[in-house]
Amino acid sequence: MVATLFIDGVWRAASDNGFHDVHSPHDQSVVATVSQATEADVDDAIAAARRSFDSGIFTSWSFKERSDLVSKIADLLERDADLIARKESDDTGKRFTEAQYDLADVISTFRHFAALGAKEHGRKVDVGLPHVHSQIVHEPLGVASLIGPWNYPLLQIAWKVAPALVAGCSFIVKPSELTPQSAIALMKIIEEAGTPKGVANLILGPGSVVGTLLINDPRVDLVSFTGGLTTGQTIMRAAAQTIKKLALELGGKNPHIIFADADLDAAIDNAVTAAFLHSGQVCSAGTRLIVERSIHDRVVSEIVRRAAKIRLGGPSDEMAETGPLISAAHLRNVSEYVEKGVAEGATLLVGGKRSELPEHANGWYYLPTVLDNAKSSMYCVQEESFGPVMTVEVFDTEAEAIAIGNDTNFGLSGGVWSSDSEKAARVASALRHGTIWVNDFGPYRPAAEWGGYKQSGIGRELGEHGLGEYLEIKHIWTNNAPSRSGWFRD
Ligand code: NAD
Repeated sequence: MVATLFIDGVWRAASDNGFHDVHSPHDQSVVATVSQATEADVDDAIAAARRSFDSGIFTSWSFKERSDLVSKIADLLERDADLIARKESDDTGKRFTEAQYDLADVISTFRHFAALGAKEHGRKVDVGLPHVHSQIVHEPLGVASLIGPWNYPLLQIAWKVAPALVAGCSFIVKPSELTPQSAIALMKIIEEAGTPKGVANLILGPGSVVGTLLINDPRVDLVSFTGGLTTGQTIMRAAAQTIKKLALELGGKNPHIIFADADLDAAIDNAVTAAFLHSGQVCSAGTRLIVERSIHDRVVSEIVRRAAKIRLGGPSDEMAETGPLISAAHLRNVSEYVEKGVAEGATLLVGGKRSELPEHANGWYYLPTVLDNAKSSMYCVQEESFGPVMTVEVFDTEAEAIAIGNDTNFGLSGGVWSSDSEKAARVASALRHGTIWVNDFGPYRPAAEWGGYKQSGIGRELGEHGLGEYLEIKHIWTNNAPSRSGWFRD
């Protein structure tokens, strides 16, 4: 019997014993078999979270006590890092080394929130009355549904679980059905660390079945979601019924602007990484290159040369530089996206098809692709492919670069390369995206907020705001010298 649901402190099978296989995107082999929850299981998980929250079993802990718990979880993650990285690499098809980097980021996330929780919370407010003590206190928000994607499965869940624990929320985690193994491992650690029963619950299964309950149930106070725009829209509609709090981390089509005065060697190298790292399956991927006309040919020909020799390979290919796409359906979507781009008039310079190597025949490998002569109006420029597809546009002036970079409904991240620091600062300030890199692309730290402008999301993860998403703010006014209000006549 497969028993990988964690509900009310107990590992159990689905109520109908349902399960599903997880397939490697590298060769379609079965890498795990996990329970598939029923609606009854989700109902139990929500009930357990609600009960534990309302009982005060965890909310009564101090911030310091909960931070200590989160530190302990970080220690246990460190102990099991390689074991979990292996599972993550099996599920996603990414190289083991890359999954090890992800695990290091997961651990830093838990350490960051543990340190933040240990700080002073709340503040006194001076209301100008000596006999009044006015105080702002931070309280745990309630029961949270934490729903994650498949590209950085454990990391995206960690950005939610760590602050939820520090804040004192009870929650139900639902990882992507394509990549559930690392969430199971995290839950085992959360249990081992001594988290009270019912606080942390794990539900597995497709979003269309189990996710729906997690976003509709009135017992849930907050939905924190990372995933695609369409699912985000569904969640917003569902949240309206009970005015749930929402934290949404959605997609991006992120501008990467290179001026002619940039350090071109570094800019080109970063442009290749920004677009093709993890085969473009990165929400902040720099897949929209916007390059000054005078350097277009030089930059693009070098990117094409580099893209053509990127080595694709599976979890255990030590020489691979990036891996497969997550699924057959995703491969189909990326192929259609490129075909649409070409039909719209973009020029295919490299890639544009599946890898034809025999060792990739059973996997979802798509070649790094560059579409030149792209225009802002094109589907391939406006929409996210979430695959290894770079579109290239040109500009002549700084104002034009900014206008193109902002001509999108998304607003997650962007990059600007220039040796003129004042120009770079002006462009960074004018771009309406949640993270801007100047002369760099991609790095982030748990201490800095992450999130999107416009349709890339609502709220922020990480930083200090990332904890705030899981807290309610209460004002307590205490009058130490009570007197009549005197408003109405006796
Ligand atoms: P997705 O929206 O298909 O699925 C995300 C999660 O939502 C999965 O767990 C899925 O099972 C669940 N889900 C699906 N339908 C649901 C429903 N109706 N109700 C509740 N849950 C439901 O996204 P994905 O394909 O897993 O991830 C790729 C997307 O995630 C991309 O658009 C990417 O940009 C985005 N992403 C954003 C960030 C960020 O920080 N902004 C980070 C990583 C990924």
